[in-house]
Parts: sequence; C-alpha cells; structure tokens
Amino acid sequence: MISDLIIIGGGAAGFMGAITAISNGLRSVLILEGTPKVLEKVRISGGGRCNLTNSCCEISHLVNNYPRGEKQLIGLFNRFSTTEAFDWFQTKGLSLKVEKDGRVFPSSNSSEDVIRCLTNYARKTGVQVYTNSHVKKISIIKEGFKLIVKGDNTFQTKNILICTGGHPSGRKLAMSLGHSIIKPVPSLFSFTTSEKTLKSCSGISTNVYIKLTVNKKSFTDSGTILITHKGFSGPLILKLSSLSARDLYTNNYKGELRINWLSMKENEARLKLDLYKYENAKKLLFKNKPFDNLPRSLWKALLLSMNIDKQLKWAEISNSKLYALSKSLTLNIYSIKSRGPFGEEFVTAGGVSLKEINFKTMESKICKGLYFAGEVLDIDGVTGGFNFQHCWTSGWVAGKSIGLNSEKLN
Ligand SMILES: Cc1cc2nc3c(=O)[nH]c(=O)nc-3n(C[C@H](O)[C@H](O)[C@H](O)COP(=O)(O)OP(=O)(O)OC[C@H]3O[C@@H](n4cnc5c(N)ncnc54)[C@H](O)[C@@H]3O)c2cc1C
Repeated sequence: MISDLIIIGGGAAGFMGAITAISNGLRSVLILEGTPKVLEKVRISGGGRCNLTNSCCEISHLVNNYPRGEKQLIGLFNRFSTTEAFDWFQTKGLSLKVEKDGRVFPSSNSSEDVIRCLTNYARKTGVQVYTNSHVKKISIIKEGFKLIVKGDNTFQTKNILICTGGHPSGRKLAMSLGHSIIKPVPSLFSFTTSEKTLKSCSGISTNVYIKLTVNKKSFTDSGTILITHKGFSGPLILKLSSLSARDLYTNNYKGELRINWLSMKENEARLKLDLYKYENAKKLLFKNKPFDNLPRSLWKALLLSMNIDKQLKWAEISNSKLYALSKSLTLNIYSIKSRGPFGEEFVTAGGVSLKEINFKTMESKICKGLYFAGEVLDIDGVTGGFNFQHCWTSGWVAGKSIGLNSEKLN
C-alpha cells in the first residue's frame, strides 16, 4: 500500500506535521522514528519542563530571535505563530502558563504532558507511528517515493516530510535527493575563559551589557549573565553564542568579551565613585559599594583583582585606582578560551539550504512531493521557546499544504 505521507522523525516538527496533515484530509499518515522512543528532545527540554513557546507575538520582534531564518519566518509566522501554537495546545487539553520573562511552559511543569498531548492527539486522529524505523535510503518512484528502513523493510509514499532535527542522517537523505547543506555548527553554548578573577562568584547571575568580538566582528547586547566556575553562561551568553555561532566556529572558539557590569558609561560610574568616596570617607571599600544592583561578591572579586587592600577606607583610595576601578566596572575584558558545555538548550545552526525551499508550502524546490520542517533546516533561534516554536510553525505549514494539495488531487 502506498501512504499519502510519510514523516521521517518523530520529534516536535514531525508530530505537528503529521497531526496537521491528517486533520486536513490525508488518509494515511505514518511517522517513522529511528529510535525506540518518540519526542525524546521534548522530554529533556527546558530541564524536563519543556519551554514550548514564548509569549512574544509581535512578528517583527519575534523574528529577531532567529539568527538564521529570520526573513523566511516572517511569512510562516503570519500563518501560524506563538498565539496559534498556544491556542493549539490549550484546545487539545494542555494547560499552559507564561512566566515573567515570556517563556511558556505546561502548567504542570512537566514535559511528559506535552508528549502525552501530542501522542494522544496523533493516535486519536489516526496517525500511525513506527519506532525503531531508521530511514536509510529514499528513492524516487513513479507514484512518489520508496523508503528503505533499518532491517530492509520498505515503505512507499506519495509525499515525504523530513523532520530529522540536527541528526546527520536527515541531511544525508536531503543531499541524496539533490539538496545542498549549510555546514552544521553548534549553537547555544557557554564560554570558557582562562582568567580566574571571578572564580569566587561562580553561580551569580547579574544584568550586564556585553560586546563580544570574534575575529574583528562584534556582537553587542544586554541581559542576564551567569558566572560559572569555568567562565560565563546564562541567557545573554547563550544568545551571543547563537548570534556568533559560525564566526566562533571558524575562529576555533576564540574571542574577546568586554563586560560592562553596570550598563552605564564610564564617566557616569566615575562620578558615582567620586561622590561615594566623599560621602563615605571613613567606611571600608570592601564592605560598602555605591552600586546597589552589583552583587557583593562580584564587587569584592573586582577589588581583589586590582590588588586593593581589604582594610582600605574610601578616603584612602588614590585617584588612579579610582579611575582603574571605574574602568574595571564598565570595561572588564575576558578572553574566550573555548566553547563550554551546553546550557539547558542546544541546537544546530546550519542544515538544508533555505534557498531550496518554498516557504509558502515547505516543499522542496528541487524534488516535488518532498517537504522539510524543524531543525533539519538552516533555521535556529535563541533560548526562550523559539526553537520549538519554529518546529510547530514549519510542521503546521507543511502538514497543511500537503493536506490541501492532496485534496486537489483526490
Ligand atoms: C537539552 C535540550 C533542551 C532543549 N530545550 C528546549 C526548550 O526548552 N525550548 C525550545 O524551544 N527548544 C529547546 N531545545 C531545542 C529543541 O529541542 C529542538 O529545536 C527541537 O527538538 C527540534 O525538533 P525537530 O522535530 O526538528 O527535531 P528532533 O526533536 O531532534 O526530532 C528529530 C527526530 O528524528 C529522528 N530521526 C533522525 N534521523 C532519522 C532517520 N533517518 N530515520 C528516522 N528517524 C530519524 C530522531 O531520532 C528524532 O527523534 C532543546 C534542545 C536540547 C538538546
């Protein structure tokens, strides 16, 4: 029997594509998943809580969260965006909550509920799921495609939707059908530094302004940074790693971080230090700081790095030291030594070239009946639920157009 649609990969994009296609008129939709379990990344995502989308709904702002795919996503989000994804899950019985920073999670804080929602709905609508079915080869036949699966089982289908995420086998299948691949490189990782100055501050989060320079190219942004025992992590660092993913890769993960711990101009910081010195002359420098939002241990670590005596009083600090302190607080330089471990998220930057996809349908411009959705494409976002959102969106658009297309044919 020949299926209407076979989806390769039982992840977020695959399930959304399958459910949408079958709900739009397809009769036989199969998911072939290579591993024993579907939706494994959903399970481990967001530290087991699954940050499945974001409350950002203004499309012009939303697309800014995608260092790759920003332009193509405008049209896609006009059809199925964060609001639609939120409603989609809620109408299928999954209660959701929005956190202060805009991230959306299941109200239960359990990714298992997202999996249950998707698998139950797929079953209810008649999607067939085959696990342990790694697709090895695709060939074009008169009626559509023939797929060879591990163990040499074969399947035939009129349409294929490749949703293999960052797995290399999906890119190989795409290449075998004529597609070109933008070299995959890691995104969303922390930075390791050689400096030991901030070791005592490990675990501290604070808001900063950063300039990252990689091989003469600069990336600037502000947000929350986490000091780790080996360097820096936190949402801002993961975002910078995403923005500079390809540059850092080509530069062997070497770069320079200029951190402004106060997010204020140096002369402004200097004025505050001068005034504080005048008003608190008899107080100890280590115990009294003029900047309320600057964590105490960070203040101490910066003073220690300048060899300032622990017993020094504000009245005793020289003008040159005060100048050096204002510099250190607003222009603190660190060298990135290497790529650190991944944070809560990790995605692949790179994948199937976007030039070869029709973004009205997600169909290949090279091979009729072949569609793509999710991370297998050269699209990726920063942290905050944006990566799953792109999977829901591209999966939905692909499923919808395959469904509508087959309606015309029947
Ligand atoms: C630890 C971690 C946490 C994350 N947390 C979040 C988060 O909270 N929010 C967020 O937005 N994003 C998060 N992400 C990113 C997000 O998980 C991915 O962007 C998303 O899962 C991609 O979905 P996908 O459907 O494209 O691919 P995947 O989820 O990777 O699914 C692809 C599937 O295809 C299967 N497959 C591959 N090749 C074949 C083949 N040849 N034959 C058959 N099957 C095949 C794979 O086994 C896999 O099951 C996280 C990622 C990681 C690693």
